[in-house]
Amino acid sequence: MTSGNNESWAPDTIVVAAGRPPHATNEPVNPPIVLSSTFYSLGESNAGEKVYGRFTNPTWDPLEETIATLEDSELPALAYASGMAAVAAGLSLLPPGGTIVIPRHAYNGSLALVAELEQTLNLTVRRVELADTVATLEAFDGADMAWLESPTNPMLEVADLPALLDGAKERGVLSIVDNTFSTPLLQRPLQLGADVVVHSATKYMGGHSDVVLGAVVTRNPELRARLHSMRTLHGAIPGPFEAWLTLRGIRTMALRLEKAEANARELALRLNEHPAVSRVRYPGLETDPGHARAAVQMDGFGSILCIEIRGGAPAADAMLGRMRLWTPATSLGGVESLAERRRRHTGEPESVPENLVRLSVGIENVEDLYADLDRALTGA
Ligand SMILES: *Cc1c(COP(=O)(O)O)cnc(C)c1O
Repeated sequence: MTSGNNESWAPDTIVVAAGRPPHATNEPVNPPIVLSSTFYSLGESNAGEKVYGRFTNPTWDPLEETIATLEDSELPALAYASGMAAVAAGLSLLPPGGTIVIPRHAYNGSLALVAELEQTLNLTVRRVELADTVATLEAFDGADMAWLESPTNPMLEVADLPALLDGAKERGVLSIVDNTFSTPLLQRPLQLGADVVVHSATKYMGGHSDVVLGAVVTRNPELRARLHSMRTLHGAIPGPFEAWLTLRGIRTMALRLEKAEANARELALRLNEHPAVSRVRYPGLETDPGHARAAVQMDGFGSILCIEIRGGAPAADAMLGRMRLWTPATSLGGVESLAERRRRHTGEPESVPENLVRLSVGIENVEDLYADLDRALTGA
């Protein structure tokens, strides 16, 4: 592949232009899907050879190049079978008996896997209030890994990423940021000093709720080599079709996010005044505790907001059942608006309010979105 890496393009150009075949006669404009589990290779195999479909695949290359360019790394990203496979790859960098710092409100799959490894690898797990920078930095002392997420899912707490990543570096703690919620369009943790970034590309990158895929990015050649070798041995690789579909989704990510965020901001303002809603969490609201930090370290506030419904979990569930345009479903980052009461999952931390409904705002007309919410909230 070609385009992208040597140019100082803006992110909304990179999503469209990176990872395309060379400008040459008869080259396709879009990278093709290569459906082959094995490749011609004769004699002793060398580093440049593809050899076998679990080692590498030509359909991954343009996707891995594009994600790396977006995250500002010169080394290709590594694509995985799912976001959780990418999370597991990141956590596999922990030594047995090691110490990890993780936000109390990290993604519940990551929390569950860390709890599992706490037993099997005899880890020490320090669960922190991520918005409390002093306490989080203290927890870094003597740790092996800092697992960071900002804003957190679903509490939307904003971490002071520059301070935490500097603090991790000073203490020799390996830092990993799950950048799924922000996307590299809003936040680029490697530029702030993170060692590794992980993604669930299932969300904003795929963008159409039709693919499950994950990615890991690092600027460190040794870490990348270790991760690549482990991906080959663990075998959590994406299929070529999923890789192609994800890159296809990335092409419109900037446009989708721009519209979804504009919708989210408008809905946050209106819901903040709604009598059936006791609290709105959205870093884009000036009154939100994470607003000032997000305004400094992010290029936007994203398209996820959480509302707390008066009347508790029963009122929230009834509201979800009345929705017609919004779909009650888990996941986020797709073109269609989804809503979910997070505590319906048994694995969700108990500090997440029972009546909290996460809204993943899509790209529909904002008046239709609000009308459906308002009708569902007021029970009409
Ligand atoms: C969804 C999600 C994951 C897991 O990704 P899958 O693609 O579902 O395996 C990890 N982290 C965050 C923040 C997520 O939202």
